[in-house]
This record gives sequence, structure tokens and C-alpha cells, in this order.
Amino acid sequence: ANIFQTAWTGVNERTFVAVKPDGVQRRLVGLILNRFEQKGFKLVGLKLMQASEGLLKDHYIELREKPFYEHLIRYMSSGPVVAMVWQGFNVVKMARKMLGETNPADSLPGTIRGDFCVDVSRNVVHGSDSIQSARREILLWFRQDELICWDESAEPWIYE
Ligand code: GDP
Ligand code: MG
Repeated sequence: ANIFQTAWTGVNERTFVAVKPDGVQRRLVGLILNRFEQKGFKLVGLKLMQASEGLLKDHYIELREKPFYEHLIRYMSSGPVVAMVWQGFNVVKMARKMLGETNPADSLPGTIRGDFCVDVSRNVVHGSDSIQSARREILLWFRQDELICWDESAEPWIYE
């Protein structure tokens, strides 16, 4: 990979994943990072941050009419989150599969939400739901210079 390959498609597809405040409090950050590393995706952005109310309202703008919206913003600003960007083939769809369903009650064992939580309003992790959302969310949460292009030595063992 080189820095001129900026199209976010194919093996350069990117998604935004965040460990929510409950995931950080419950010491699940390492486990969640581990799942994406083990899968073979490439970490290109990572930071611990206290998200502002403004950022969170922008992030969840599509849900502003929902009855749980205020609770959601309060939950997401109740402590630090770990924001990350993962890169790889089909990463948007795969990350959603690895997360499980929005409601942990519908999430299969083996998924992050299926294994680590029980309540929809404490579901430990976020993942972008489409390539367009991923792009929007990455631009919202990360500055350009916080996303690192690096050559991974394992690439020939992950992709033919
Ligand atoms: P996601 O893309 O799977 O995270 O789900 P959504 O985009 O639909 O909702 C965003 C977040 O809002 C979810 O991850 C939950 O934390 C929360 N949420 C969604 N639906 C509900 C609900 O019915 N009740 C409550 N309390 N929270 C919800
Ligand atoms: Mg969503």
C-alpha cells in the first residue's frame, strides 16, 4: 500500500468502530481490539477520548427523533470511548457481523455484543452501518493526520 491509494474501496475499505463508555469501564478494550486484529484487519486509527455532546449529537444525528436519543447521548458522554478505524476487504459489513445485532438479545454467541452484554442501551461497541456512514463518521472523529498508512508485513498471508 502507498499513500496515493486513497480510495476507500477493496482492501482499502475503512470503517469506524468505537468501544463505548461501558466497554471501557468493563475493561473490554483489549478484547475488542484483539478480535479485529485476529480477523486480519489493519488498524489505521486509534485514540481514547472523552467525546463532546456536540460530536455525539452529530454522530447520532439520524436518531435525533428517537425516544432514547437523550439517553443515548448521556450514555455515550458518560466516560471515555476508544475510537478506531479498521481497514480491509469488506470491513464495513464484516465489522457489523462481528459486533452482532443492535440488541444484544438478538446477537449470536461469538459476536461481541452476543458475548459481552445484555442491554441494548449498554451494548459496548459501535460500528458504521454502511460505506457512506463509515466515511462520514471517520471524517467526524479523526483528523486526516491521525490516520496512519503503513505497510503490514502479514499482508501476503492475509490476501492472495
Ligand atoms: P447500531 O448501529 O447497531 O449501534 O444501532 P442504531 O444506530 O440503531 O442505534 C445506535 C445506538 O442507540 C445503539 O447501538 C444503542 O446503544 C442505542 N439504541 C438503539 N436502539 C435502542 C432502543 O430501542 N433503546 C435504547 N435505550 N437504546 C437504543
Ligand atoms: Mg447505527
